[in-house]
Amino acid sequence: MTFRKKYPITAKFLTANSKRRSGAKTNEIKFIVAHDTGNPSSTAKNNVDYYERTRNDQYAAAHFFVDDKEILECIPAVSEDTEKAAHVKRRRVEDNLLYGDDANDVAIGVEYCFGNNIDADEAYSKYVWLLAYLCYYFKLNPTISIVGHFILDYHDRTDPIFGLAHSGRDYGNLLKDVAQEYYECINKGTSDYNFVEEKAIKTVRTRLNIRKQMPSVKASISKTVNAGTELEVLGYATDGQSISGNSKWYKLSNGDYFWSGGVY
Ligand SMILES: [Zn+2]
Repeated sequence: MTFRKKYPITAKFLTANSKRRSGAKTNEIKFIVAHDTGNPSSTAKNNVDYYERTRNDQYAAAHFFVDDKEILECIPAVSEDTEKAAHVKRRRVEDNLLYGDDANDVAIGVEYCFGNNIDADEAYSKYVWLLAYLCYYFKLNPTISIVGHFILDYHDRTDPIFGLAHSGRDYGNLLKDVAQEYYECINKGTSDYNFVEEKAIKTVRTRLNIRKQMPSVKASISKTVNAGTELEVLGYATDGQSISGNSKWYKLSNGDYFWSGGVY
């Protein structure tokens, strides 16, 4: 399984052994916290530079800052061994109730940059992609593993609702957009599908596209066959791309696939 790398992630690590970057490692990431900077018009670079200048003044940190230009990783998360960052007050209990642990030990923090000088469409696209990529990277379910800071700290925080609203977006759609991005960017290899061997002859209903090596319309078309054509199949994948709720795709002896809804 691979994940489409739509955007580069740039490592710009804070100096280690400072308050903001203790260097403490974690090998168990259980969830992701969606933040915004709370500071309109400050860019990803502005924020990381500020963190670096004040690295010994405060403990607060986050792993990533995202704006319209770039994704900056300032505490190692995916580019090097994952380290802890302090992005949710430890005394709050909501993270423990929801995920069984403190965010500062087992969660990645992602900060959204917004403001009049930041292209909201670009920044939002990168933010959504990064959250989806982190779910892939840490093997998390994108539908339940991302939580807004405001949910973990409703006393004091409104992020990322505040920043998203500034961009004409909202939190409910963020979670939906991340899940959709995740499924669009996931590319299963041919061996990742659940294959059932069952030789059979299938008859094409109407013109049917045969897809190269993958049970998905994202794969290119290797050929198109006419109604009535008989196709000999080796078996089928049960978990190809779902079309009208049907994810069964037949496999030909050359490794190509076609959707089962197109034959009888
Ligand atoms: Zn926050």
